[in-house]
Amino acid sequence: MLRSHTCGELTIKNAGTQVTLCGWMQRSRDLGGMTFVDLRDRYGITQLVFNMDTNASLCEQARKLGREYVIKISGVVTERSNKNLKIPTGEIEIMVDAIDVLNESKTPPFTIEENTDGGDDLRMKYRYLDIRRNTVKDALLLRAQVAAGTRNYLNSINFVEIETPVLIKSTPEGARDFVVPSRMNQGEFYALPQSPQTFKQLLMVAGMDKYYQLVKCFRDEDLRADRQPEFTQIDCEMSFVEQEDILNTFEGLIQHLFKNIKNADIGNLPRMTYADAMKTYGNDKPDIRFEMKLVELNDLVKGKNFKVVDDAEVVVAICAKGCSEYSRKQLDELTEWVKRPQIGATGLVYARWNADGSLKSSVDKFYSADDLKTWMEKCGAQQGDLLLILAGETNKTRKAMSELRLEMGNRLGLRNKDVYKALWVLDFPLLEWNEEAKRWHAMHHPFTSPKPEDVSWLESSPGNVRANAYDMVINGVEVGGGSIRIHNKTLQQKMFSVLGFTNEDAQEQFGFLMNAFEYGAPPHGGIAFGFDRLCSLFGGSDSIRDYIAFPKNNSGRDVMIDSPSKISDEQLKELALQIKK
Ligand code: ASP
Repeated sequence: MLRSHTCGELTIKNAGTQVTLCGWMQRSRDLGGMTFVDLRDRYGITQLVFNMDTNASLCEQARKLGREYVIKISGVVTERSNKNLKIPTGEIEIMVDAIDVLNESKTPPFTIEENTDGGDDLRMKYRYLDIRRNTVKDALLLRAQVAAGTRNYLNSINFVEIETPVLIKSTPEGARDFVVPSRMNQGEFYALPQSPQTFKQLLMVAGMDKYYQLVKCFRDEDLRADRQPEFTQIDCEMSFVEQEDILNTFEGLIQHLFKNIKNADIGNLPRMTYADAMKTYGNDKPDIRFEMKLVELNDLVKGKNFKVVDDAEVVVAICAKGCSEYSRKQLDELTEWVKRPQIGATGLVYARWNADGSLKSSVDKFYSADDLKTWMEKCGAQQGDLLLILAGETNKTRKAMSELRLEMGNRLGLRNKDVYKALWVLDFPLLEWNEEAKRWHAMHHPFTSPKPEDVSWLESSPGNVRANAYDMVINGVEVGGGSIRIHNKTLQQKMFSVLGFTNEDAQEQFGFLMNAFEYGAPPHGGIAFGFDRLCSLFGGSDSIRDYIAFPKNNSGRDVMIDSPSKISDEQLKELALQIKK
C-alpha cells in the first residue's frame, strides 16, 4: 500500500503517529510563514501543514502544488489549534516531512467542492471530476448501500440472483426497443431488454421459485426530464403466490431499506384501489403526505344556470387550508397557472370562507352564501379556508386538479422531503383504449392476469376488467409495480387476441412463453422497482441522474465519451447495414 491511512480516519487519538497519506490537493492557503493544504480522497479531507521556519524548501514545494495534483505525504499527526468540528478529522492536522508528487493535474474546468461553479454539461463531460465532489460521491455510496440492503433482504428469504440475457428479441409491446444488428446473422437484430419479464417467468416455469436481479433495462423513449434510456431495476418473481404474498414480501423489502438507510420506520403500507386513487387524488400515484383530497360537488352546483358546470361531466374541489386571504392577484395567477397547456383547465372557480365568517366566490352571480356553505361543508372546510374548483370532462378535470393539488401542496410546504408516505395502489384496469391505434393496450403488460372474477368480461367489456396488478407509491412517485401473471396458455392466447394479435403473430413473438406454459407452469407473480428512482428518493433528490455514475443527458447522449457515434463504413458493411448519406 502506498498509504498507511485514508484521509478520513485520523483523529485526536492518532496524535503523535507517523503516517503516510495519498490523495488530491483540493486547496491550499498561504498564511505568512505557514501553508495549509486540504488533502482529499474518497474517505474525507485531512489538513496538511507546512512551516516556513522549520522546513522552507518543503514549504516552497507545497506552495507549488496545483489543484487536483495527486500527492503522497508523510508526517506526524498533530492536534490543531484551530479546530473544525464539522468534519471527523477536524481536530488534527499532519505536520508534513515529505511530499511526493504522484501525478500532476491540469487546472480542473470547475471547482471540485460541495458547491461547484460547473454547469450541468461541463460536469457531465468531466464526470470523473464531478464524482470527486462529495455530493456526487455520496450519492454513489448511497446507491451501493441500497443495492447491498436489497441483496441482504432478498437473500435472507431464499431469493436467488440470476442473470438474464442482454441480447434478446424485439417485440412490439411496450416502449420502443434499442436494437443491435447481428454480424453473424445479417439482416437480423437483437433487442436490448426493456425488462427481463419473460425470462423471469420462464425461470418460474424452470422451478427456481424465487428470483431477483439488479438489472439494466433499456427503453428507447423520448426522454423526459427524469428518464434515462438505460436504467436499473430490482426485478423479482415468485412462484406459488397470490397478490397478498407479494405485497407482504415487498412491503418487507421497503421497510428493511428504510430502516437500514434512513433509520426510519415507515410502518405498514395503506392500500388504495386505482378507482379510489383517481377519484380522491386524480392520480394513480397519489402523494399522501398531505390531505387536500378531491371532492366532487356535482349535486351541489348543478342546475343554477351556471353553464360551465351544468355542461361539465364532473365538478371537483380541493380545500386549501388557511388560504381564504389569497389576494386577487394570487388567484389570477393560479388561474393562469391551471390554464397553461400542460395543465389544460379552461378556468378556475374559487370560494372563500373568510375568517369573519362571510362567504365569497368568483361565481356569486349564480350562488348564494348558503350555497357556498354547503360546498364548504362537503369539503370539510372551516373559516379561513379557500376552495379551488375545476369543472369539465372527468379524466381531464381530475388530472388537472391533481396537478393543482400538488402545486398547492408545494406552495403550502406540505411536501416535506424528510417525510415518507408509502402506499400500494391496487386493482388497476387490465386494458386501456389507445385511440391512435384504435385497439386495446395492456395497461401493465400482456402477461398480467385479469382478476378471476372479471375474466368473463374480457371479450364483452374489456375496459371493465381489473388486473391483479399493483404499484408501490412513495411520496407521489411510483417506485415499483408488478402483477400476478397468467400461467395458462389458453388465457394468454385470449389476452393476445384481445390485444389485437393474430394467432400467428402471438405464436411468432411469444410462442416460447406460451409453449413453456404447457410444461407445468406454476402460478406466479412478481414486481420490479425502479432502482435509480428509489436511490434518489432515499437521497432526497428529484434527479435520478445524480445517482448514476455515468448518466446520459436529456438527448440521450453521453457527452463524456461522445456517444452515440457514427461507425465506420467497414463496420456498416460487415453488418450489412446502409446509412443514407
Ligand atoms: N416487468 C415489469 C416492468 O418492467 C414489472 C413486473 O411486472 O414485474 O414494469
